[in-house]
Formats: sequence, structure tokens, C-alpha cells
Amino acid sequence: MKILLIGPQGSGKSTQADLLAKDLNLPKISTGDIFRELSLQDSEEGRKIKGILNSGELIDDLETAKIVEQRLNKDDCRKGFILDGYPRNRKQQQIFDPKVDKVFDLEVPDHEVVKRLLARGREDDTMETIKKRLSLYHEQTMPLLDYYKNQGILIEIDGMGDIEDIYRRIKDRL
Ligand code: AMP
Repeated sequence: MKILLIGPQGSGKSTQADLLAKDLNLPKISTGDIFRELSLQDSEEGRKIKGILNSGELIDDLETAKIVEQRLNKDDCRKGFILDGYPRNRKQQQIFDPKVDKVFDLEVPDHEVVKRLLARGREDDTMETIKKRLSLYHEQTMPLLDYYKNQGILIEIDGMGDIEDIYRRIKDRL
């Protein structure tokens, strides 16, 4: 099974992706994790990625699509995967379509996202980057959600509440 989790930063999608991956024994592929790891490299590419992450902007669509395509072509993804963070917009999906079976959209209101991200205190989580990412999210990801809705594979999940409760809502719709 190929599953995509979508939701704004701070929606808890990474946590839910971890739970699903463990439960279904599938690899979790997170573009955020991939880019954070690349940003630690002491190289021009590493520094470039670090700058983009800290600004709250997105990495180039073509570059991102290539990285994900390479990763999903590896053997461990043959039975399926849990995708966290890709595609982020229609353009990425058109460049490389991971052809997922189900899309879970974790819905959390903006004010709750801001609260959660400020509390987590990661280096790239300042009020400015949080707001930037939220507006990018609404602008770019909403059309992708509409697309999956039209395909009939979008499942909207209430992302408020305890981790276990949210996970149960997801499992009920698997
Ligand atoms: P996340 O951990 O999903 O919040 O991602 C952290 C950062 O990684 C984002 O703010 C982007 O800069 C970058 N990133 C993650 N996924 C993508 C993607 N699909 N396209 C472009 N940039 C991404």
C-alpha cells in the first residue's frame, strides 16, 4: 500500500507516518528528514539547502522530485511506502507522481499549528518561517488536495486531540 500524509507543518503528520510505517511494516519516506540530513553536509549543496530550510521556503520542485523518485525506486519501497511531505504541490506531482493509493489530510487550524511549532522550538521554527510556511502551504497544497479529492482517494482526518486518537481515526479509514 502506498500512503501519502498531507498536513501543515506541526499537524503531527510525521508522528502519524511513523506509527503507520511501524504498524504496516513499510518504509517511511520523509522529504523533510532527507533535506535536514542533506543540510548537515559541509558542502555547497548542504549550505544551500540549510539556507532554504531556515528561510521557510521550499526546495526546488525538480530537485525534490528527482530525490524522491530515486528513493522510491529502491527495493525496500516495492511493497509500498508511507510518504511524508511529497508531493507538496501539483507541479511536483506532475514531475514525478508517486501514484499513491490513499491520501490522509491531517486537518489542524492555523492558530494551533503556530502554537505547536513555537513549542517545539526547532532551529527553523521562528514566527516568521512558521507564517511563511503556512501561507505557502495554503497556496500550494490546497490545489493538490482538490486533485486527490477528485480522484476519490482523499481522506480528511481531524488532527486535533491525542496522538493515539488521531491514529485510530487514520486506522479506521485504512
Ligand atoms: P517538513 O519536515 O515536512 O516540515 O519539511 C521541512 C522543510 O523541508 C520544508 O520547509 C521545505 O523547505 C523542505 N521540504 C520538505 N518537503 C519538501 C517538498 N516536497 N518540496 C520542497 N521542499 C520540501
